[in-house]
Amino acid sequence: MANPVLSLTLNNGVSIPQLGFGVFLIPPDETAAAVTTALGAGYRLIDTAQGYRNEQGVGEAVAKSDVPREEIFVTTKLANGQHGRDRALAAFDDSMKKLGIDVLDLFLIHWPLPMFEQYVETWQALEQLLADGRVRSIGVSNFEIEHLERLARETDITPALNQVELHPEFPQEKLRAYHESHGILTESWGPLGQNRGLLHDARVVAMAEKKGRTPAQVVLRWHIQVGNVAIPKSVTPHRIRENIDIFDFELDDADMETFAELNVGRRLGPHPNQFDLV
Ligand code: NAD
Repeated sequence: MANPVLSLTLNNGVSIPQLGFGVFLIPPDETAAAVTTALGAGYRLIDTAQGYRNEQGVGEAVAKSDVPREEIFVTTKLANGQHGRDRALAAFDDSMKKLGIDVLDLFLIHWPLPMFEQYVETWQALEQLLADGRVRSIGVSNFEIEHLERLARETDITPALNQVELHPEFPQEKLRAYHESHGILTESWGPLGQNRGLLHDARVVAMAEKKGRTPAQVVLRWHIQVGNVAIPKSVTPHRIRENIDIFDFELDDADMETFAELNVGRRLGPHPNQFDLV
């Protein structure tokens, strides 16, 4: 690729591509094809989860790709019903069978589920997997500052990354600042605002026109310049390619200011303290 994806470094020294491919809601029987298209387009980070039921498709695409395994960064996440030490370890084994790989690049706790009071014990299971060399890095998803603080008080390893809902309408400034001061990388889910209005906002459309880009491209470029890892999802080949073709242009200060104006502080998804789906 002419303009390769930038990389960032996690707090344990492991390198992670700044743009990846998310596979939430991709049907299991379409996942291998979508991931194959993504790998062909230059993506080297694939984000799946036990709850997406498509880890097998990710594994198939990774196995049959010409891209060497060590060049692909695979993330999966612990399902909400699998909190607790023994369940988490067993669920991890199950993921590895489905993915068909020996070592996972990043394992995340999908949601903290604070009402069940288990995420500390679950995190200790992830620490064990790291110590055993089964994963290269461990992190969390949908953790609020209070959950991260509790891990800091009661466990040994700082999460490498926190994957949270983040887009220009919900930029998570406070959480990002906390991450920055604690060496935790921020990864944006729903980076395109799940295409529920953001990409049609007149200001985004005008900026895209001015730059000769698409709305999705300027939004993804914003994530890159803010310093997030972003993992947009698409099953449409031309969009998959479009979403990674963002490393040959820059937003200027005025563009970043326009994005700052889009902040309405509104989540699309549930608040992590309320979400209790198991
Ligand atoms: P997203 O913001 O990536 O939006 C995806 C939707 O945007 C697609 O379904 C498509 O309709 C549209 N789209 C994609 N590319 C486009 C383009 N170029 N032009 C116009 N429309 C386009 O939302 P998402 O899928 O929810 O999030 C991305 C990834 O984040 C997921 O696939 C998953 O891996 C991860 N995720 C994690 C959590 C979590 O709890 N950790 C929750 C949701 C998503």
